[in-house]
Amino acid sequence: MTDRKAELAANLARVEERITAACVAAGREREEVTLIVVTKTYPASDVRMLSELGVRHVAENRDQDAAPKAAACADLPLKWHFVGQLQTNKVRSVVGYADVVQSVDRSRLVTALSKEAVRAEREVGCLVQVALDAGANGRGDRGGVAPGGIEELADLVAGAPGLRLDGLMTVAPLTGEYAGRERAAFGYLMDLSTDLRRTHPAATMVSAGMSADLEQAVAAGATHVRVGTAVLGVRPRLG
Ligand SMILES: *Cc1c(COP(=O)(O)O)cnc(C)c1O
Repeated sequence: MTDRKAELAANLARVEERITAACVAAGREREEVTLIVVTKTYPASDVRMLSELGVRHVAENRDQDAAPKAAACADLPLKWHFVGQLQTNKVRSVVGYADVVQSVDRSRLVTALSKEAVRAEREVGCLVQVALDAGANGRGDRGGVAPGGIEELADLVAGAPGLRLDGLMTVAPLTGEYAGRERAAFGYLMDLSTDLRRTHPAATMVSAGMSADLEQAVAAGATHVRVGTAVLGVRPRLG
């Protein structure tokens, strides 16, 4: 094994232990939580090693980096998640490799994703990104729609050809009433998911929790955690 692969293996083992411990503490089965490794800013060679180490879900947040990486890794049995703010002019490219877009936060994006998914003859899973720091019907600094806007977007996704409504995603807010209260923030996201599933029972995904707060997300009931730094190391630049 190369040094890098051994490092990734050790980091993955530690993250795996953390997820397992959090599941035990919450009385949940390990199988209820899916690890998504956020590979943004890291090279395709790392993605390949992660795949060899058993990772099946990876996430990226910038199409410029993700598109060539996904192309270089097209032979691997990976599901690609897009988790960044998405401009409509990048949608065609993203639909070319993304299995799930977790950052759906406005109707124009839904329209664009649907059009390109149909064109590419692909089905794209969509999560509505919820901004817990947004005003009543506003938007978050890092993307996302306020809780009051979920239903309208979810209905739009559910009725859009080529798209599949999979659930909700959030990033723990740095400002507002939930700043520093990750467990409460993720608990609120779970309540919003329960509401959503009354009208969209198949939208069961709840994507929450990153390297610093995956335990709180698992405790709240998240089905997917998105972990970058704890697996790959501190990113060389902001991403
Ligand atoms: C970068 C990123 C992550 C991973 O964050 P880490 O703190 O490195 O684990 C998760 N979700 C989103 C949306 C991200 O942009």
